[in-house]
This record gives sequence, structure tokens and C-alpha cells, in this order.
Amino acid sequence: MHENFSRKKYAFQWLTNHISMKCHPSPYWRTATLLSTGEEELPISVGVNIMRMSTYCIAVQADEDEYLLINSLTGAVDVVDTDVINLLQTDLSQGDPSILNFLQERGHITDASSQEEFSHMEDFYRGVRPGICNRKRHIIIPTYKCNLRCTYCWESALYKNGASWMEKTLSFQEVDSLFEAVGELDKGVQQLEPLIYFGGEPMLPENVNLIAHMMKEGTERGYEHYFVTNGVTIPDYLDLLVSHPIKGIQITVDGMQSTHDSRRKGPRGEGSFHRIVEGVELLRDHSIKTYIRVNVDKLNINSIGELASFFKEYGWHDDAYLTMYLAPVFPHGCGGYSKAFTREASISGLISLWNNHDVWDVFKKGISDFHPVESALRGEAWSPQFFNCGAHCDQLFFDAHGSIYTCWEAVGETQHCVGRFIPHLQFNENYKKWMERTVFTIEKCRSCELAFLCGGGCAYDAYEQHHTISEPTCGHAEKVLREYIPFYYNYVLRGNSHSK
Ligand code: SF4
Ligand code: SF4
Repeated sequence: MHENFSRKKYAFQWLTNHISMKCHPSPYWRTATLLSTGEEELPISVGVNIMRMSTYCIAVQADEDEYLLINSLTGAVDVVDTDVINLLQTDLSQGDPSILNFLQERGHITDASSQEEFSHMEDFYRGVRPGICNRKRHIIIPTYKCNLRCTYCWESALYKNGASWMEKTLSFQEVDSLFEAVGELDKGVQQLEPLIYFGGEPMLPENVNLIAHMMKEGTERGYEHYFVTNGVTIPDYLDLLVSHPIKGIQITVDGMQSTHDSRRKGPRGEGSFHRIVEGVELLRDHSIKTYIRVNVDKLNINSIGELASFFKEYGWHDDAYLTMYLAPVFPHGCGGYSKAFTREASISGLISLWNNHDVWDVFKKGISDFHPVESALRGEAWSPQFFNCGAHCDQLFFDAHGSIYTCWEAVGETQHCVGRFIPHLQFNENYKKWMERTVFTIEKCRSCELAFLCGGGCAYDAYEQHHTISEPTCGHAEKVLREYIPFYYNYVLRGNSHSK
């Protein structure tokens, strides 16, 4: 058994480490840095008392006689065979001492009680939270107005507020209040996060002067800039983009022209595909880092292969300045859009795409950080999921009405407003609720073995389902672990493909 066990330990290669601005960017990469600098050490006691399998050690079957042993306290991920799994599930005292030593060193077996393991993590979290969350990501919504009417847009629900509410745009004076607030929040922060421009559409032709003003003010204060745009007006903004420090541009392409134009169209139904492709080519010409997001749902999933071939034909998949990634469209916040995936179905749907060579070639570098276990598999520092996403940590949205939010999908929904920055920065009681939503404060998560892999699930989903963000949202975590992680290990890390 020992020989098998040793032989089956793999040295994983580090694959990618881009910061892709997906719908819900996570703070993992920063946590990982913190952990790897040795500022704190994960508090796992290794003793010689009665040993048991750690509550937070999960075995995931990856192949017939191959299991991933994942420990969410230490971040250890090891490949073992069925004998080791059987040993863990029966009498540890019968085990080979060298294997037991190894399992103990990796935290898969422990002499700490379940409660002690949890308490250690709680103490650890209190210590590291300021380091993880003090450096804020400021996401600016200069207006909710948009020049497209995408069929699945979750912000379309905001049209009920009326045209003047949608079209309200930050004034220059309000931008002063914004930078006053941002300056207050970033006081003493050494390494600033880029300012992110979001919407509505942040690159409307009529707002060039306003955005130029914000970029100038931001650059003078040491910020880089990142845009989440539909990409229709890149030529209008090119001068600004080449004359300021740009961290990246995120642009969405949903399929070949007919598919894309049927989903991402203007107010009169006009298509946007050609203008977007031209815009991406302009960004390539100027070596501006661009992330191409492809929103996938039941309507376009079968045409992703054709789109991947198009990207290859244009040489986009080989361009160091371009990263393509797939993002499932979820039902919530989309105005009841019936073609969206459920979170569970999206996993199987995305995995099924890997049967196609072109999809594989184009999107493999864009798969990353869908789940924290991926970074552990790549051998990077581990960051336990104390909370589900940046909405409980470092993420702040400043909108055109002077309101502050923390969640991408909650922007504009006043019940989720966490504060104001006009006239001055002020947080309300909602802010505390969003910041305190962790696996330590949700009762069910406190006794869940998946806690540090899951983080308590999406708070916005919880509100949709229970009218409170204090409830957990389970289901997705287990599915990702059992289906996506074996897929990532077998097909992404080991370079296999279903059809290769
Ligand atoms: S949301 Fe559910 S699966 Fe996730 S940690 Fe909480 S109880 Fe566990
Ligand atoms: S709470 Fe949910 S919807 Fe909001 S940012 Fe987090 S994961 Fe996204």
C-alpha cells in the first residue's frame, strides 16, 4: 500500500494566475499571498493522542482507484488510493506508521476535536481578516444608463425606477465626494486596488469627459483603472485608455454574430457584434490587457464551439493580452429569465463543453479560480473560505445616486444599500450584516464539514429565498466538489481532454 501511495502523489504544475474580473471576483489571490508570506500560520496542532480523521478532510473520487484528499483547514490536497480511504474510514491504529505520519503532517488526521478545529479557525480568521479585507476594491457606477438591452441583464429590473433614475449620472462635484470617500477608506493602504468602472455602461460616448476627469483624479492618487464594458464604444475611449495606467478591460461576447446580436442588442434591436470585435482588435493593437467574458446559458451553450473556432481564427487564443473565459448566467436578478442555468446545472453544462477541442484550446487558460480547491491543486497557498465572496469583505460599489452596495447583483436595490458617499461617507446597519456574514455567524455552517470550502453560499440568493442574508445557501458547494474538482484535476491540470 505504501508504494502505491507514494507513487500516486503528484507534483502539480502551476498553471495560470491571472486576476480575471468575473461576475464575482474573489479575494482569494490576496489571501493566498498573505498566507504564503508566513505572517500567520494555520493553527493545526499535530499531536500523538487519539487520532481521528479531521472533520474538514474530504475525500473526492477522481478516478477508479484514485481519490483527492482535500483538507480545507490546511489546504493539503493529496492523491491517494482506495486503501488509504479505507484506512481513514476504519481503525487508524492498524495503519502503516509512515502513512499515518504523512496523513498527520498534512492535517488529514488529527488529535484535535471537531470543536477545537473550528475554534482554531475562528481565532485565525479574527487575526487575518483586517489583512484580507482592509484593502478595498472600489467599483464605480457613473450611471445605470446603458446603450444595450441584453436579454438576460439582471439590472433590467431597475427600469421600473423610471428613465430619469436610470439616466442619472454622477456630476463632477459628486465625483469629488466619491474621491473623498475612497481616500478615507484607503487611508494607510500601501498597495491600492485598481478603480473599477461598471454600470449600466461606463463607456457611454456622452460621458467621455466625466470618465476622463475620474481617471485623471484616480491616477493622481495612485490608482490604476479597470473597465467592465460592453465594448461597443472602445474607439471613443481609446485616447484615455492609452494615456492612463490600465489594469484591464472586460468585454462580453456571447457567440457568433447572429447569436450574439440576438442577445446583446441596442434599444432599437441593432446588433453589437462587429463593433465589439473591432474594439477588441483596437485594444490588441495597443497591447491593453483584455478579458473576454462569454455568458453561457441554455440558449447559446451549443454554439460555444463555433465561437471558439472564431477566436482561434482571429488568433485571440494565442494573444498574451487576451484571456477568454466562460461565465454561466444564473436566474436570480435576471428578471425571471427562463433560459438561465440553475447553479447546479451550470457545472454539468460547462463541463460538457470540454468535449470540443476548440473550446478546450481557447478557454483552458480562462478556467481558474472557479473554486478555491483549484489553487490548492496547483500547489499555491491555500485560502480557506471564511465567507462566500468579496461582498462580505473588500468590495464596494459607489453608484450614480450616491449609494454604496457590496454585491454585484444587489446594486440599485435600496434594501441592500449599505451606505452613502454623498455628501460624505457613511455606512448603515446593513453594512455590518453583510460584513459579518461568515461561516462563523451562520448557524448551519458552524457544523458543516464543507464550511471552509463553501463560505456559506451566495447572500443574494439567500435573500431571494428567505428575505434575509443570514441563512445559508447550500447545494452548489457539494456539486462543485464532486463534479467540477475531479474534472479540473483530470482534464485541466493533467492535460487530458474527453476527446484527446
Ligand atoms: S452554506 Fe451549506 S454547504 Fe455551505 S458551509 Fe453553510 S451549511 Fe455548509
Ligand atoms: S452575494 Fe452572491 S450575487 Fe452578490 S457578489 Fe456575492 S456571490 Fe455574487
